[in-house]
Amino acid sequence: MKVKYLIYFFTFAIMLSFAVFIANGLFKAQASYAQSLENLYKVGRTKEIAEAFQATLLAHRLKRLGLVDKSVTEAEWQSADQQARDKIAQVKSHINNGLAQQLGIRQKIAILSMIDWMERLLDNDSLQVSQVNGTSSNLFNINSAYYIVQTTKAFYRYTYDTRLINADSFLFLEAIRLNNRLNMSLTELIDQIIDVNLNSEERKDSYLKAIQLTGVLNPLGTRLAFLKLAYNDPQISELVEEMLRSISSERISGISDGLYQAINHNSVYNINLIAGYIEEMDRLSQRLYERSFELEMAASQAKMYDSQTAIYGMISLSGLIALFILLPSMIFCSNITRWLTKTHKNILRLSKGDMDIDENEPFYSKELIAISDAITQLKHYNQVKIALENEKQQLIKELEVSSFFDPLTNIYNRRKFFLECEMLAQSSYPQAFCLIDIDNFKRLNDTYGHDIGDRVLVMFAQSLTDTFRSSDIFCRYGGEEFALLLGHCSLDNARSMMEALREQTQQMCLELLNGKRVRFTISCGIAAVSSQAELHPAIKQADEALYFCKKSGRNRVSIYTPTGFI
Ligand code: GH3
Ligand code: MG
Ligand code: MG
Repeated sequence: MKVKYLIYFFTFAIMLSFAVFIANGLFKAQASYAQSLENLYKVGRTKEIAEAFQATLLAHRLKRLGLVDKSVTEAEWQSADQQARDKIAQVKSHINNGLAQQLGIRQKIAILSMIDWMERLLDNDSLQVSQVNGTSSNLFNINSAYYIVQTTKAFYRYTYDTRLINADSFLFLEAIRLNNRLNMSLTELIDQIIDVNLNSEERKDSYLKAIQLTGVLNPLGTRLAFLKLAYNDPQISELVEEMLRSISSERISGISDGLYQAINHNSVYNINLIAGYIEEMDRLSQRLYERSFELEMAASQAKMYDSQTAIYGMISLSGLIALFILLPSMIFCSNITRWLTKTHKNILRLSKGDMDIDENEPFYSKELIAISDAITQLKHYNQVKIALENEKQQLIKELEVSSFFDPLTNIYNRRKFFLECEMLAQSSYPQAFCLIDIDNFKRLNDTYGHDIGDRVLVMFAQSLTDTFRSSDIFCRYGGEEFALLLGHCSLDNARSMMEALREQTQQMCLELLNGKRVRFTISCGIAAVSSQAELHPAIKQADEALYFCKKSGRNRVSIYTPTGFI
């Protein structure tokens, strides 16, 4: 397997594990957040129900106290009754408001039955208060006790079915139960003592029950101590300390002793003594569970905050990971784009023949390296092409030169001569066309050899170059014939110039190695050219004049005129 695929595989595996890790974290945090919300809801409802129960018990106590203690007014117990009913109404308002969905059907049933028993207790108490007399007080006691016990049972069912998620929540439930236990015991205690005072027949029995109840209070100390230890909160500790003092053996035995004395001396127990105690305990236990509620709220909120932090953390982490993956990809892409742009420019330049291309940074990808190599190759081909083109141009130039010049004498050939003639300015007329022929050249060749003949031709051509102006055009017309076109030149001028050339040629001498001297002469026919169209007729005419010279004995110059040669 290629290393590339291994890298792909591991990158994918790492990304997948990151994704699983983040998704798992998010899922857990989300679940924990939802759980905390539900917990908070349950805690709120539990507190509400507990408070409704306490308010009901308080109303019950006040109604019963009012029977024996005239300081408790009707307005007072009616207000307590109303408060209890308000709190029950508050609990009721939640029942049809998603309570069953949040808490479950068992809790809903428990609450419904609690509400029923509490309302019955309040109704029964109110009825009894208005009708009570010595004989019906016992009924009051029995009914109340029954309703209270039923409410308590429902309350316990409710609290045991309410599953709260953390240790703080358990402590809160414990504080609520403890508070309930205390309230129950104290309410029952006061009920017994009131019964003692109202029902003289049963008083001994009630006293004994009251003494039993005081015995219940002291063991609650263990549960209180547990709360203190578990919470480790200064306020809870202080409250527990105070409550422990209230239910200490000394305080309890103080109450029990008073009760024993009341039995023994057959006297009435002062209800205010126990009422004050109950009020104090009620206040303390209420503060205890309220503090517990505060702590529970703080714990739930902290848990929700933790979940939220975890959610944000996971989202940030996934963002960071995405950035870590995206950033190098973006850099890589921008590098590739830059590379491609540069490459595109380079290709354009090369296609226009511009060899000055930019250096592009190397890329470690097979495909891009191949493109780089192709561009280098293209540049090389272009350079070769340019070199070849230069060579071609050079050859064309050389060819042009060779096609214009006579290879032996290195002066213009006939082709170039005519091209140059065509280019002569219009203003250069009149012109004179002169055709020069070396006399008896065949004989010269025969006498000295062909190579000497060649040297004679070269020497004569050189004399033409030396003699004439650059504006005059001359060439080797063929064999041992030379042509000359003189601009701005009359026939007379042409004659004198040709005469001078003829004489000069006559004087020329080619010295051979063997000491021999080769001399030669020329004949020249001249014709006038007054327009471009007249050149070719003039050539013919000059040729005729030349022929005339040859016929007339050679080494002479002759001009063609329509009337004859002169
Ligand atoms: P005339 O005076 O009538 O002009 O006689 P001629 O011999 O010069 O003329 P003819 O036309 O009979 O001979 C020309 C000779 O020139 C023939 C040829 O061999 C010679 N010739 C032509 N071109 C060259 C050349 O390039 N080199 C040499 N050495 N001889 C040449
Ligand atoms: Mg000739
Ligand atoms: Mg000749």
